[in-house]
Amino acid sequence: MEFLPVFMNLQQRDCLIVGGGEVATRKASLLLDAQAQVVVIAPNLSTTMSEWLDTGRINHQQRDFTAEDVQGKSLVIAATDDEVVNQAVHAAATAINVPVNVVDSPDLCTFIMPSIVDRSPVIAAISTGGASPVLARMIRSRLESLLPSAYGRLAKMTADFRDRVKTRFSNPNDRRLFWEKVLQGPAAEMVFAGRDGDAKLEIEKSLEAGDAGEDGSIGEVYLIGGGPGDPDLLTFRALRLMQQADVVVHDRLVSQRVIDLARRDAERIYVGKERANHAVPQEDINHLLVRLAKEGKRVCRLKGGDPFIFGRGGEEIDTLVEEGVPFQVVPGITAASGASSYTGIPLTHRDYSQSVVFATGHLKNGMMDINWPGLVQPNQTLVFYMGLVGVKTICKELIAHGMSPDMPIALVQKATTPEQRLFTGTLENMHEIVEREDIKPPTLIIVGEVVKLHDKLNWYNEEQ
Ligand code: SAH
Repeated sequence: MEFLPVFMNLQQRDCLIVGGGEVATRKASLLLDAQAQVVVIAPNLSTTMSEWLDTGRINHQQRDFTAEDVQGKSLVIAATDDEVVNQAVHAAATAINVPVNVVDSPDLCTFIMPSIVDRSPVIAAISTGGASPVLARMIRSRLESLLPSAYGRLAKMTADFRDRVKTRFSNPNDRRLFWEKVLQGPAAEMVFAGRDGDAKLEIEKSLEAGDAGEDGSIGEVYLIGGGPGDPDLLTFRALRLMQQADVVVHDRLVSQRVIDLARRDAERIYVGKERANHAVPQEDINHLLVRLAKEGKRVCRLKGGDPFIFGRGGEEIDTLVEEGVPFQVVPGITAASGASSYTGIPLTHRDYSQSVVFATGHLKNGMMDINWPGLVQPNQTLVFYMGLVGVKTICKELIAHGMSPDMPIALVQKATTPEQRLFTGTLENMHEIVEREDIKPPTLIIVGEVVKLHDKLNWYNEEQ
């Protein structure tokens, strides 16, 4: 190991930065975050540093560096573009054993600054020993996506309970088990979901019971929006919960590549629905979720797109509420957003459309129960979910209610997946296209002038 990672307390300590440019500013910003007293020696200051000077956050001495400047400093950073000055700072600091960092000169550093992920008080620091700062930054961004942003709050809450937990469990092993369960259990999830008050109560309860309240207790349901298909469109929270769930309940709309991201050893239950041929009736799904949670399992109910947009998410959690099962809802990218972005068809546009309506194009007994006059409005984009079978009816009704037969319409097959295909036409001729082509569900329909923008704004290479 070339460097020993340590975390240094610099609160109210005098630190010196030689240089006033952008790099110096970035370093100064970190020192200020660590509540150090920052002195900057430089002929000129960056705009940000000047602001800090005005608000009294830093001290500035507008002159050349001299060796005495390092006296009494806890830390010194040289960030000038003058090699001679950088050398001098290094020599002065090392002569009296003050830690020194010379930016971009590993040979002149007695310490190096890592890439950090800040969830204070939790901090992860990554260093490649100066070998590859870019690699360090890449690792950092992976950690950023892995560590929930609420880890800091969770750690602080843990600190508040530490003494009481110590008193309650005299055996260190019991303490460790208690904390492991709390930090992986419902209390932690509550903090991640912003319910800190509930989390405190949960920890209190576990403390009183003398355990982490998990064994034999009720599980939780995560109602997760899995997005339209491309797994990169999942949210960080969705991915994290998918990776800790014991069971994944999914249907036909969720893409295999998304399901593959669930925990490898999680049980997978398929409750797929064929159109007009419900493989598992909704009511049974609702009760399945309740049963699994009552067995103490963490259940991931994975839905295509967003759970609250034509996802019947409301009905599923209705049953959970009735049965007292804890749950949380994670939004997903809805098909309209996915299809729109991946075809270069903006749903609104200053020149063409000032509103957008999401409607169901589902046929019931060959009919569509929709407020057509409400849909046929100037400068409005219409998005139809579940509309492939009824596309002829949709076009006919829109024309009958006054829309121009030339109005552009797009049909997007399997948006955001490698099998995405786009068919564009007009209200008058779209049904011919559908009859001619072998179109596979799921498909989304977009009606409006914005469809024309595809030619200009498309960026996604689709199967042709
Ligand atoms: N909750 C989902 C919608 C469920 S309804 C969401 O927010 O996206 C099912 C309908 O969604 C399908 O009939 C289709 O119209 C649309 N849909 C879902 N995924 C799609 C995709 N990848 N491409 C095109 N349409 C999609």
